[in-house]
Amino acid sequence: MASQGVNQWVYSFGAGKTEGRADMKNLLGGKGANLAEMANLGLPVPPGFTITTELCTYFYANGRAYPGELKDQVAAALAAVEQAMGATFGDAVNPLLVSVRSGARASMPGMMDTVLNLGLNDVTVQGLVKRSGDARFAFDSYRRFIQMYGNVVLDVDHHHFEDILDSHKRDRNKAFDTDLTADDWEAVIADYKAMVERELGRPFPQDPQEQLWGAIGAVFGSWMNARAITYRKLHDIPADWGTAVNVQSMVFGNMGQDCATGVAFTRNPSTGENAFYGEYLVNAQGEDVVAGIRTPQHLTIAGKQANHSDLPAMEEVMPEVFRQLNDVRLRLEKHYRDMQDIEFTVQQNKLFMLQTRNGKRTAPAALKIAVDMASEGLIDRKEAVKRIDPASLDQLLHPTLDPKAERKVIAKGLPASPGAASGKVVFTADEAESQAGLGDAVILCRVETSPEDIHGMHAAKGILTTRGGMTSHAAVVARGMGRACVSGAGELRVDYKTRTITVRDIVVKEGDILTIDGSTGEVMLGAVPTIQPELSGDFATLMGWADEIRRMKVRTNAETPLDARTARKFGAEGIGLSRTEHMFFDPQRILAVREMILADSEKGRRAALAKLEPYQKQDFIELFEIMAGLPVTIRLLDPPLHEFLPTTEADMAEVAKAAGTDLLRVQQRSVQLHETNPMLGLRGCRLGIAFPEIYEMQARAIFGAVAEVAKSGQAVLPEIMIPLISTKKELDILKAMVDRVAKETMAATGQTFEYMVGTMIELPRAALLAGEIAETAEFFSFGTNDLTQTTYGISRDDAGSFLPDYERAGIMEHDPFATLDPEGVGELVRLAAERGRKTRAKIKLGICGEHGGDPASIAFCESVGLDYVSCSPYRVPIARLAAAQAALNADTVKRD
Ligand code: PEP
Ligand code: MG
Repeated sequence: MASQGVNQWVYSFGAGKTEGRADMKNLLGGKGANLAEMANLGLPVPPGFTITTELCTYFYANGRAYPGELKDQVAAALAAVEQAMGATFGDAVNPLLVSVRSGARASMPGMMDTVLNLGLNDVTVQGLVKRSGDARFAFDSYRRFIQMYGNVVLDVDHHHFEDILDSHKRDRNKAFDTDLTADDWEAVIADYKAMVERELGRPFPQDPQEQLWGAIGAVFGSWMNARAITYRKLHDIPADWGTAVNVQSMVFGNMGQDCATGVAFTRNPSTGENAFYGEYLVNAQGEDVVAGIRTPQHLTIAGKQANHSDLPAMEEVMPEVFRQLNDVRLRLEKHYRDMQDIEFTVQQNKLFMLQTRNGKRTAPAALKIAVDMASEGLIDRKEAVKRIDPASLDQLLHPTLDPKAERKVIAKGLPASPGAASGKVVFTADEAESQAGLGDAVILCRVETSPEDIHGMHAAKGILTTRGGMTSHAAVVARGMGRACVSGAGELRVDYKTRTITVRDIVVKEGDILTIDGSTGEVMLGAVPTIQPELSGDFATLMGWADEIRRMKVRTNAETPLDARTARKFGAEGIGLSRTEHMFFDPQRILAVREMILADSEKGRRAALAKLEPYQKQDFIELFEIMAGLPVTIRLLDPPLHEFLPTTEADMAEVAKAAGTDLLRVQQRSVQLHETNPMLGLRGCRLGIAFPEIYEMQARAIFGAVAEVAKSGQAVLPEIMIPLISTKKELDILKAMVDRVAKETMAATGQTFEYMVGTMIELPRAALLAGEIAETAEFFSFGTNDLTQTTYGISRDDAGSFLPDYERAGIMEHDPFATLDPEGVGELVRLAAERGRKTRAKIKLGICGEHGGDPASIAFCESVGLDYVSCSPYRVPIARLAAAQAALNADTVKRD
């Protein structure tokens, strides 16, 4: 369609030649690309055209203006649609009506505005009356158009329309919109138009061309509305992607009892079950199904029975159209090789497909669908592993309601998004956000939710609505966010004015605690206890596939037996960091620790250390037993000492008493030890250099434990790790001490055992001198928390006060303490790995900073060729999957 040298801004579909394809999402947006793909597949798609996302970018780069050639391109595409439909835009006898919708690259459900029935005016509505033979339908369509266009394009507040409609219903004593006659709607239209003219000072536009360009401008304009901006921020969607605009000929689901509209998933999006799953409404249009205004009906008889619905299923009411729809379902799955979320309309028993896209799903559903599709041969195992977002596993690893716990169930709604959540009742999104900001768990309770509530839904632990089905806004958004959601709990009455929920004689007030179970739909009073999840079935299958693919090992950061056991249950292959100082916070030990720190002589320190040694030895025995022969990295004492210093006089007095000294001496020593900058002070290996007896005690405790566990025949693989070194000399001195203690222990116990001594790389100097340090170190573990802190010179404890400003200002895309900075900190890691390997080819390399559990950082670790990542126990499955995906991507990169 575009002449040479002119940009093609418009792509047709379904009208003669279809110009787009599914792989043109960046240009045509998801909706436009998939409409074109369905047309290419020969599915019944109402003809239309897509204005590209590049036009959106042009629009914003040029002060919201269009390129000169756009008008002609739109006119040509519209003419093709007119020809395909045998109708003419603006024609008095046979008018073409269109919908105008947004469609970005990534789906942004409900985030942007849509206009339906465009092309109607006082003249064309008469054409529609004649053509449809249904005046009521025609006028209802016209008033819907005025309402949508008035609100979305002309910015007239919707309450003006609602007030008019309500007063007409009241005057005529009619309860439902469907009770209004053609005459009633004509009267409503007259009032709507008068009101718009009063509000805007000009009449409602009658010229279809003006309507069309107004709607196109509004869709492009909506890319920058507050809802869209919030959604993009939450989902990491760049603003410069832009949206496309889809203009498509209208088909009508509201022309009578042989018409319908619906939304469906090709598999169950909550459970992943391979069953057609959806809802429809007879004689309804567009957003009626998702708006939650009428209770939708199920597509299938099985769905109807499972949900105890009395309303007939589409399978019963329109069996032939249902059969066609089911065929489309199977074809789409086969073609896209993924679960699809579809929208359709039936006009006088003829099926039309309005949308298909990869369906959002819960984490359990994603697992089941990936595993099932691999078993069905639709995808291979590698593809199945790629399909799961590692971060989404979090939803599966957290507790569910204890089935044995007592529940005071007050209502039952729909199980809209699985998981259990307890929290304080709040009624507005703003309140949810502010209470959550104070650290409270909240349940957001609404009659229904709308895109304006998105920030509150994100802040809430769970969402409860009293209206709306499984595909209502609340349900769809909650599933996408991984929030528990019960929707359509119709027995409950939510009263925003009194801020109460009432059911029978029970009144729940704002601030009261409720529990919701998004897997059963139950709503309960109070907080119900939870239990740990069972990690079997599809989860275990997929993790098994991930384990076959990944190259890097996954270890855990753990020092307590509970954490170590949890991590093993989640598949950890050893401990990558055991922070021994965490073992010292125990109330039984802290006094001896303080005594040790505050002692002003070696003798005093040794006396205190002697009290700690048995505890430490016992700690290590337990860790070695739990890890049963897997490597266990124990880091010698690291923390800035101020973390342990007593602050109150009572605590100081207690230390003085235990050490047999007086309060004044303890106070003086405290002052002496005070540091201006503890993070850069007497910590890490500097402690071991200044007070060798501390590290010596720890080495003795470790090797004593090794000898004892080895005696029982159990394999032990200890790796002793020295923190915060910046010179080889530090490591030489401390390694010599560790080797001496090992020898002494072997001599004393008669046991021989293997061990390794290595270091953390967490200071830039250590990274730069890694070649030299590797002469002594048998392994490196990258401590990227400190390495980030010292590379940026940003305090890890204080960064929170200004990093958000940095992210907002676009200086940093991510918090570098959460996602490794690949260019700076990463460059040091890469360099240290290379230099270390040059000296010692087989040097073992791992990471134990927080980044070890972050999927993007794990991909970086794969690119550097680290041997393992280590992360907190609950992140172990996430790391296993992310490591597999990183290996698959690395493979692809190599092949390219
Ligand atoms: C690190 O610095 O990355 C590290 C793992 O040590 P810590 O967080 O204990 O300082
Ligand atoms: Mg550190």
